[in-house]
Amino acid sequence: MTDTVGTSYDIVVLGGGSGGYATALRAAGLGLNVALVEKDKVGGTCLHRGCIPTKAILHAAEVADSAREGEQFGVKSSVEGVDMGGVNKYKDGVVDRLFKGLVGQLKHRGITVIEGEGRLTSPTTVAVNGTTYTGKNIVLASGSYSKSLPGLELDGDRVIASEHALTLDRVPESAVVLGGGVIGVEFASAWTSFGTKVTIVEALPNLVPSEDADASKTLERAFRKRKIAFKTGTPFESAETTDSGVKVTVKGGEVIDAELLLVAVGRGPNTAGLGYEEVGVAMDRGFVTTDERLRTSVPGVYAVGDIVPGLQLAHRGFQQGIFVAEQIAGLNPAVIDETGIPRVTYCEPEVASVGLTEAQAKEKYGEVETLNYNLGGNGKSQILKTAGFVKLVREKDGPVVGVHMVGSRVGELIGEAQLIYNWEAFPADVAQLVHMHPTQNEALGEAHLALAGKPLHFHD
Ligand SMILES: Cc1cc2nc3c(=O)[nH]c(=O)nc-3n(C[C@H](O)[C@H](O)[C@H](O)COP(=O)(O)OP(=O)(O)OC[C@H]3O[C@@H](n4cnc5c(N)ncnc54)[C@H](O)[C@@H]3O)c2cc1C
Repeated sequence: MTDTVGTSYDIVVLGGGSGGYATALRAAGLGLNVALVEKDKVGGTCLHRGCIPTKAILHAAEVADSAREGEQFGVKSSVEGVDMGGVNKYKDGVVDRLFKGLVGQLKHRGITVIEGEGRLTSPTTVAVNGTTYTGKNIVLASGSYSKSLPGLELDGDRVIASEHALTLDRVPESAVVLGGGVIGVEFASAWTSFGTKVTIVEALPNLVPSEDADASKTLERAFRKRKIAFKTGTPFESAETTDSGVKVTVKGGEVIDAELLLVAVGRGPNTAGLGYEEVGVAMDRGFVTTDERLRTSVPGVYAVGDIVPGLQLAHRGFQQGIFVAEQIAGLNPAVIDETGIPRVTYCEPEVASVGLTEAQAKEKYGEVETLNYNLGGNGKSQILKTAGFVKLVREKDGPVVGVHMVGSRVGELIGEAQLIYNWEAFPADVAQLVHMHPTQNEALGEAHLALAGKPLHFHD
């Protein structure tokens, strides 16, 4: 698509992922004239290589688990095998439908999508394929890429990143997953359900290390039960590819042989060579630094999504995009509380949280109260045969400042948990609200009843 040189927009957005397209949609909804520059496919990492395809694979994994475990529920079933062609077809179908929907939405709202690689050339211009597009405001939303470790090259075959893992045409016999954070444990979980022998290697002392210590411990127990091997507190040393796979050496000299190595050690900001520094945008280790209103150091230039230091999550990008569009339109939106952004790790069992961990809350408030409600007391969780907990952290005599949950399907409970945190609810506020029986949601209600001093199905 070409446009005349000098075409001017209210906003030019550089990058059409979660952050960028949300900015464009909201801005267009506010009557602004928007151009969205995208070099690949609108929808970005989340839609094409992240949230959506991984969750489709995890759902297929859940189906495999259900078939394998049917006998526990009196249903005679078993897994004959996993056809990755079929799994990929299902996954790609979901992505394609959402992609078409997004393209339609952008068109419907009159957003000009400019295909090609953009480069910031001044505080008000982006060049794409030799054409310069002018924006009264520019929003940087160029996203992130899979990082590796020094000396560890991603060859896309034996040593792979998440984007390669999503297009595998086979279930690997065995895999080493480097990194026990969210992306690592999600693949470890799905592959185990498909029959892969997985070993996770994590340098920090726990899996999902940014979560509350109780959540990490409970997930580790569940993974042990699922026979997912993990070595925590174990830094990676080197990897050597062979004809049949990869040999991974960890600190201490142990060598783990596997068919492939998935490197899931985090995501770096995609900002190099895009002109940001030349135009004077302040950066910190490749990230674009902003104030709380997402303004960069250059007036009129904003940044959203994974290039802004903080949680790298799609819904954070959506919210930041909405915020920036409203800010540019002069609506003075409320500043986003990063701590109030919900987090879900979609492995089996799921880990979901919002707010502060117990350790963070103690550091902030000194004295806190906590309550762990075991899913053993929750009817629906027993029906599902899942174990785990709902943990509440409250400021002493104050509102709930953290909710942490582990168990199958608890990710779906985060909606209520984030309202509780973001509306600064006291346990007594939630305790008087009625939760449907039998649901897993009830566990949240019961935890608040107990913390408000009137426990129902709860004993210490
Ligand atoms: C395996 C995996 C699983 C994930 N699961 C979840 C999940 O379950 N939930 C969740 O909330 N988050 C998840 N995430 C994170 C989520 O995908 C990101 O936080 C989100 O995509 C960030 O949005 P963004 O707009 O900042 O960047 P991106 O989505 O990366 O989009 C940036 C876009 O900019 C384009 N671009 C870059 N440079 C240029 C240029 N010079 N010119 C033109 N276009 C350019 C890119 O092609 C891309 O489309 C996951 C990520 C991965 C990798």
